[in-house]
Amino acid sequence: MSEKALGTPIPEEMIDSLKQLVSDHLTYSAGKDKINAKAHDWFVSLSHVARDKVVGELMSTMRSYYDQDVKRVYYFSLEFLMGRALSNSLDNLGLLDMAKQALKALSISPDDVFEAEPDAGLGNGGLGRLAACFLDSMATLGIPGFGYGIRYEYGMFFQRIQNGQQVESPDNWLRYGNPWEFPRPEVIYPVKFYGRVVEYADEKGVLRYHWMDTNDVMAMAYDTPVPGYMTDAVNNMRLWSAKASHDFELSYFNEGNYIKAVEDKNQSENISKVLYPDDSTLMGRELRLKQQYFFVAASLQDILYRFGKYHDNFDHLPEKVAIQLNDTHPSIAIVELMRILVDLKHLDWDRAFSITTRTFAYTNHTLMPEALETWPVELLETVLPRHMQIIYEINHRFLKEVRASYPGDNELLRRISIIDDGPPKKVRMAHLAFVGSHRVNGVAKIHTDLMKETIFSDLERFSPGKIINITNGITPRRWLKQANPGLSSLISGKIGPGWTKDLALLKKLIPLAEDGDFRTSFREVKQHNKECLASFIKNTLHLEVPADSLFDVQIKRMHEYKRQLLNVLHVVTRYQEIISSPGGDHQPRTVIFSGKAAPGYQMAKLIIRLINDVGEIVNHDHRVGSRLKVVFIPNYSVSNAEMIIPAADLSEQISTAGTEASGTGNMKLSLNGALTIGTLDGANIEIASEVGEENIFIFGMKAGEILHLKKTGYRPWEHYETQKDLKQAIDLIGSGYFSPDQPTLYKPIVDSLLSADPFFLLADYASYRNAQRAVDLAYRDQDRWARSSILNVANMGKFSSDRTILQYANEIWGARRIER
Ligand SMILES: *Cc1c(COP(=O)(O)O)cnc(C)c1O
Repeated sequence: MSEKALGTPIPEEMIDSLKQLVSDHLTYSAGKDKINAKAHDWFVSLSHVARDKVVGELMSTMRSYYDQDVKRVYYFSLEFLMGRALSNSLDNLGLLDMAKQALKALSISPDDVFEAEPDAGLGNGGLGRLAACFLDSMATLGIPGFGYGIRYEYGMFFQRIQNGQQVESPDNWLRYGNPWEFPRPEVIYPVKFYGRVVEYADEKGVLRYHWMDTNDVMAMAYDTPVPGYMTDAVNNMRLWSAKASHDFELSYFNEGNYIKAVEDKNQSENISKVLYPDDSTLMGRELRLKQQYFFVAASLQDILYRFGKYHDNFDHLPEKVAIQLNDTHPSIAIVELMRILVDLKHLDWDRAFSITTRTFAYTNHTLMPEALETWPVELLETVLPRHMQIIYEINHRFLKEVRASYPGDNELLRRISIIDDGPPKKVRMAHLAFVGSHRVNGVAKIHTDLMKETIFSDLERFSPGKIINITNGITPRRWLKQANPGLSSLISGKIGPGWTKDLALLKKLIPLAEDGDFRTSFREVKQHNKECLASFIKNTLHLEVPADSLFDVQIKRMHEYKRQLLNVLHVVTRYQEIISSPGGDHQPRTVIFSGKAAPGYQMAKLIIRLINDVGEIVNHDHRVGSRLKVVFIPNYSVSNAEMIIPAADLSEQISTAGTEASGTGNMKLSLNGALTIGTLDGANIEIASEVGEENIFIFGMKAGEILHLKKTGYRPWEHYETQKDLKQAIDLIGSGYFSPDQPTLYKPIVDSLLSADPFFLLADYASYRNAQRAVDLAYRDQDRWARSSILNVANMGKFSSDRTILQYANEIWGARRIER
């Protein structure tokens, strides 16, 4: 398939034939007549057209993987935040424009059709979206990469705002069916839980372990094809759904208690019912542990079945299989592979452990203690009794080696152990993942350095070189080409379309930053995108925002470490400045927030409420007029991100230095021409060095300075007492000005800031404010701003997930690209 040259008209016959295909699917797949077909029916029909094209290539891709006996990469992730598939698939197939024209010829609005598709929201945020970008890049690069995860019946909850507060409702995304998935009722594996372990001596007298009297659940596969961009390669994402086992059903039904049997059937099918909506905080619940083991056990059976078709010697497993663990969530897989090799295949321990560690690699996504996974030993002993024994054995042998290298250092043994002695006794999943993998990677330079210095310092000393850095990336197809068609065609018109597959080619735009005509066109595109977002805000929130104001955007999960509250403090200060000098020359701004809070995270929910309450007062204060607007766009999701990002002027990336592992929202925004105001945290540091210090607004304390302040004693109230504008902003919030019906509503926020301020907002406030002044000043010079904005786009090549994936392939997986 060759890329359509820009502006080449599509031949009439091709549009006609596509029209015919869509109409046929309307009849035969959707079962509808044109007269009464709704947007959703057209969505189903067009999806089937695209799927038909994709599935043929899926078959031939799989066949060529078999024929060439390639090394396969399996990406294990509890989350895949895919978003919508239709326009992405059509674009990857090179059919998007043709499909739009075919729909128009049928008098159907393409936008309505695309918007009828629900997001596949099987993830919380950055970690799940990274998995989705990686699948796109692996397919595009021709790397045999397969996603494995859970087909949650309910994905990430929907967020509404009622009286300023977050209200959650379930995301029943499969209600109207899912045209992208292929159910595979024949691909079904048993997964065991509970039961007990019996020791016995085999015929040769070797001690063996039998896990028995288990409660079994079946895992059934659903496949979603993943087409690469402008290539014939189509990979697969296999998600598991829980089904009651047949034995289980029979035994209960035979007892004659029909209702109990149906209840129990539902119980076992609960495993894949719902995604846990906690981002960066741990929820140590039994069902979550069962989800982890459920998908890992099914995936390993599937992988070994495939391996076994052509191989009978497990020593060759690491040459044919690479498994990447997306955080510790699937790390029980290490133990499960050991169980299979030792208990079922009767390999000796050392040989099994060598195979296992050479197969697995682990990506760490956080250093924050509250997010590091641990499971109580007692729970593991109940749910996975044999696995707990194997963990003890792995730990025993590991500690023996450590002791041999560092004799007498009992403190070290205690720190480095996979078991935290508690109480309660817990398994440190990050230590297990580290010990059971041959590579451990961080997701941005600073994050990897901090990993080595903090949570893994002992482990790094014991296994030098195991930790490497691979900075995250995003797919330029979804996040520039498809999300921002205006900018995308402006770029392709100047430098050709090659950047979509080789993002470094954007460097060709550097000289164009000096071209006045190009700057004008570039600004027109941004202006158009801002007007689109402004009309969305008007239509959905009934709020008018001036499209010529500076669009200041902070969109991400609501979390204290991401410091949305610091942004609010700045908004309140701006508000007070406008009120106190009504005739002053204030740069108009529209401050846009979007993000979900974990349902049990009270402080994050209170901050959402504060944003909405501040908006309620500021947006209706006649003294302010159009100079300040505060908008909270509900239900942050991939689709909302695709709409907001192209309209952003300013990207808020203001986490406390040392807390945001990488961030990927920062990359999407910069790639779309937003300038970053940010701390030296995560990938911001690398973005700054790519785009140049003149084209980014860096502020705040560095990670090392934060650490030092923590050690020497931080006194936030001193900032409050000495900085007048800061004090005024906090006092106004504390006074109940934004919550007149409940004057003490925001007391917990004020108290937290003044007593401990665990994320150092007050320490960074003055510096943040100065940076915001610099932003205002820079924005006044629209020419200078456009130049910086173009240079941001031009220098983002490094942050393509294609580069990220090639690094994983070379430095971890030893996987090759397939020529087809
Ligand atoms: C990219 C993305 C994220 C990650 O954003 P960060 O700013 O890096 O935290 C979260 N959610 C969605 C929907 C995204 O598209």
